[in-house]
Amino acid sequence: MSDHVLVINAGSSSLKYSLVDALTGEVAASGLAERIGESQGRQVHRGTGGETETTRKIPTHEDALRGAIEAFESHGPSLADTAIAAVGHRVVHGGSRFSAPAPVDDDLIAEVTDLVPLAPLHNPANLEGIRVARRLFPDLPQVAVFDTAFHQSLPPHAYTYAVPSAWSEEHGIRRYGFHGTSHSFVSQEAARLLGRDPAEVNVIVLHLGNGCSASAVRAGRSVETSMGLTPLEGLVMGTRSGDVDPAIPAYLMRELDMSMDDIDRALNSASGLKGLTGENDFREVLRLRASGDARAGLAFDVYCHRIRKYVGAYYAVLETLDAVVFTAGVGEHSAEVRAASLNGLQRLGIIIDDDRNTAQSTQARRISPDDSEVAVLVIPTNEEWQIARETLSVVRR
Ligand code: AMP
Repeated sequence: MSDHVLVINAGSSSLKYSLVDALTGEVAASGLAERIGESQGRQVHRGTGGETETTRKIPTHEDALRGAIEAFESHGPSLADTAIAAVGHRVVHGGSRFSAPAPVDDDLIAEVTDLVPLAPLHNPANLEGIRVARRLFPDLPQVAVFDTAFHQSLPPHAYTYAVPSAWSEEHGIRRYGFHGTSHSFVSQEAARLLGRDPAEVNVIVLHLGNGCSASAVRAGRSVETSMGLTPLEGLVMGTRSGDVDPAIPAYLMRELDMSMDDIDRALNSASGLKGLTGENDFREVLRLRASGDARAGLAFDVYCHRIRKYVGAYYAVLETLDAVVFTAGVGEHSAEVRAASLNGLQRLGIIIDDDRNTAQSTQARRISPDDSEVAVLVIPTNEEWQIARETLSVVRR
């Protein structure tokens, strides 16, 4: 029986896919279609025949997936020969309803549709990916893997906002957390790297990519996380502000006559690194900072200071700490961010070895001395593999 899972991540104007061996993590093929619905789209497929790229109009997500199926047939590997076990879909918001991956059926689609107000940009796109895949792969089981599910283990005192209780009871206003597949994968890998059972270790995971989030994971279960009702809360991100005083929107409405939509857009798309420097790509921020740009220098300091605050807070939440783990684009690649975020925390048992930190590697590794009380680790995240594993666990249950 094949252990291959076709992992689909549908965005509002994009569709990414990978064909992953759920047992080994090996990627047989991957690709993406982007600028769906625009006058000119782009499709990329990486398979047995190497990488191919085509530009053409891709009117809908269905056209995108059809194009991917054709690319599999013409550039390999043939889907018919691979015998896919299931299709796994990334779904951003599972609300309080989903604490685990779930088989796709009409009820699940209705429930994910009910959650659209909580994720108005993401859930409709994820649903479109599900509908299209069900049409084009009617004989394959389909599974939804939720970004929020791993954080459903947060205790009430961590997920409750101190607001009128009717807001949460009647409208679901509470902290959900996101990037769950990444936090789950990386915390398990951390235990493996330490040679210990996940049920025995407490870790702080710092997922620093375009979106950034921190989590505190106790004995394999998430007990705190920095993103909230939406992915806006918490760390400084590429274009999102992270934590701000919640009175700022009211101030802007009153004093600058800004609309709620404009403020929402500014906090999500024109803040974070982009708001501070004009650039949302961290490599550009580093380049500007190295050239002496004062704004980029400040942005770097704000970014690392926020991480440091969360590390301290989550250490207090966990009480004992075995590892701090850096992952995702910035976390995996920027030795400067890792050093600036954690330097000076020796009294907490957190020490970075400079040579290990700056050594070039793409492998999971320890960057603290072997005998430090808290291990500092760099672990490449692999959300596609985690989605494939969780998908297979549902279909083989
Ligand atoms: P991700 O969302 O995980 O793909 O991460 C994207 C972010 O990682 C972008 O801000 C990139 O600029 C950043 N990134 C990727 N490679 C590097 C690098 N070598 N050094 C610093 N940042 C990087």
